[in-house]
Amino acid sequence: MAQLSLDHLTKVFTDDDGSDIVAVDDVTVNIEDGEFLVLVGPSGCGKSTTLRMVAGLETVTSGDIRLGEESIADQKPQDRDIAMVFQSYALYPHMTVRENMSFGLEESTDMSDDEIHERVEDAADLLGIPELLGRKPGELSGGQRQRVALGRAIVRDPEVFLMDEPLSNLDAKLRSQMRTELQRLQEDLDTTTMYVTHDQTEAMTMGDRIAVLDAGELQQAGTPLECYHRPANRFVAGFIGEPSMNFFDATVEGDRLITDAFDYPLTEEMREAVDGANGVTLGIRPEDIEVAADDSPTGGDEFGTTVDVVEPMGNENAVYLGFDEDPTDTFVATVGGMRRIDAGERVVACFPSDAIHLFDDASGDALH
Ligand code: ATP
Repeated sequence: MAQLSLDHLTKVFTDDDGSDIVAVDDVTVNIEDGEFLVLVGPSGCGKSTTLRMVAGLETVTSGDIRLGEESIADQKPQDRDIAMVFQSYALYPHMTVRENMSFGLEESTDMSDDEIHERVEDAADLLGIPELLGRKPGELSGGQRQRVALGRAIVRDPEVFLMDEPLSNLDAKLRSQMRTELQRLQEDLDTTTMYVTHDQTEAMTMGDRIAVLDAGELQQAGTPLECYHRPANRFVAGFIGEPSMNFFDATVEGDRLITDAFDYPLTEEMREAVDGANGVTLGIRPEDIEVAADDSPTGGDEFGTTVDVVEPMGNENAVYLGFDEDPTDTFVATVGGMRRIDAGERVVACFPSDAIHLFDDASGDALH
């Protein structure tokens, strides 16, 4: 069983002035056997520190790390059955690809030369790089180097892979190709994997589940679709999804939700959800906003607005809409890329009640 469990994991650094930096704050999450978990969050939220503690490159301040039933928090890195792939690839420049891939096995195992040879050949086949085995890293492209770094982890056949932004040095096209390759590889090998990225697209497309971190704290762990459709709080709602969710300050008056731009009838379910909340933020995703020409009323609770900026995104346009009261304050809707829509145009916007997310102002927690 290669279930990896982080149990109230905490890391506190002390800076030069003697003050504490809580980099990882009481994080509890399980990565099931064979699961691909993506740890995602903004820069500085504690992703790398978490991964480095699991690898044994950083000590644990408190909490535990278990592989199966066994605590590994105090084990030396080389005693943990874990292989890490770094953003920088960390290849030895003077060694050939074959030597880079076999070096770790020669140093830290008593495997025979034949077995090492076979493992390197198998990994090279799996990664589609058998013709590169005789080359040195300086003679490889970025994508090829990244494959070698992966190969070095694969030959160890570890219980767990840890990957720290392994694709961030690649250009956009290669990154999306390697994303697919990595997913295929993980399906073939079925190795428990913890993958760190700050890129929510990478998280959404690659993870069986994602764990969203902010300021060292776990905000939500769930499937990509759970985090997208049922974000636990305002942070997750704003972090997952591109363009980001729109947020509107709202107050509850009777059976209506009032914002500066529009007011909205509360459904029974929404009324129960906001009962007792201090203040409410209404969230609506850009793709849930319908935009229609001013002369084509859509029915329901629509409101007038003016197109500020249109940003083509290929098959869609991001349309930034200004409020009548304050045109500099905009919100964003996505519409089909073929649709003609221009800055300055007067339009009406509306959205269905089941697309509304409500958050408590004070805690940021989702209310329904
Ligand atoms: P990024 O995406 O930018 O790599 P991250 O989410 O991986 O960021 P970490 O590198 O884990 O974040 O850093 C978390 C916090 O801990 C940051 O505030 C960082 O400045 C701090 N930190 C990390 N390493 C140390 C260290 N060795 N000493 C002191 N503070 C540190």
